[in-house]
Amino acid sequence: MKYIGAHVSSAGGLEKAVFRAFQLKSTTFSFFTKNQLQWSSIPLNTIDIDNFKKACIKYNFSFKKILPHSSYLINLGHPDDHLLNKSRVALINEINRCDELGLRFLNFHPGSHLNQISEKNCLSRISDSINIALDKTKNVVAVIENTAGQGTNVGYRFEHLSDIINKIDDQSRVGVCLDTCHMFSAGYDLRTKENCENTFDKFFNLVELKYLKGFHLNDSKRDFNSRIDRHESLGLGKIGTFVFEWIVMNKNFQEIPMILETSNPKIWDKEISWLKSLK
Ligand SMILES: [Zn+2]
Ligand SMILES: [Zn+2]
Repeated sequence: MKYIGAHVSSAGGLEKAVFRAFQLKSTTFSFFTKNQLQWSSIPLNTIDIDNFKKACIKYNFSFKKILPHSSYLINLGHPDDHLLNKSRVALINEINRCDELGLRFLNFHPGSHLNQISEKNCLSRISDSINIALDKTKNVVAVIENTAGQGTNVGYRFEHLSDIINKIDDQSRVGVCLDTCHMFSAGYDLRTKENCENTFDKFFNLVELKYLKGFHLNDSKRDFNSRIDRHESLGLGKIGTFVFEWIVMNKNFQEIPMILETSNPKIWDKEISWLKSLK
């Protein structure tokens, strides 16, 4: 079975996200377990947790394949110690929410140096942040997403991802999510078979397959190597359709959840049915 879905809204309750994913005929999904634009959140109560778990069982979603996304406010490499600590507390809170919901992953963006510290210093703060969070939580795998390298974001080179992972104490609880729009914007070409093979060779030279826990399948509105993060519907952007076929049909990736964050939710059902049809 292929695990394909989209990043659905959790407006109205977390179980509503599950239902939205079901309506799209998807086999996995992503969502925010809290308001992604606020630091604070109301703790989950047993009814919320129960409703979410029952919905996942009713609509046949495996807890091990759902890939929740963290708040955008978190910066695990923040140059300011006070704000760094605030981000670490928020990450721990989000990991605990995922654990309470029975989920096994939390996907997040690595962080930004804000032109105040070097990339190297920022990356080592990110590793420390993940180590602290893993030490204070259990079960959930911390899944680092590659970035487009927009602004002062780190994580746009595969070397950054391997640097972070290499410093993690419990490597059984760290992983990577590859976003195709971010890869392309960061200068990893994906437009032809040869491009895809070269790009993934580079990736696997640095990061072992066992760390790859998810894909975000997005086309890009912006040009190759633009370092700008603007998602587009599959095949309507600058990447084209080839890479999506190549990833979905790749034997190595059959068990890995693949999530759409494409720009037009009205055609997610069509995009999902196309990806599921690829053999
Ligand atoms: Zn993301
Ligand atoms: Zn993404």
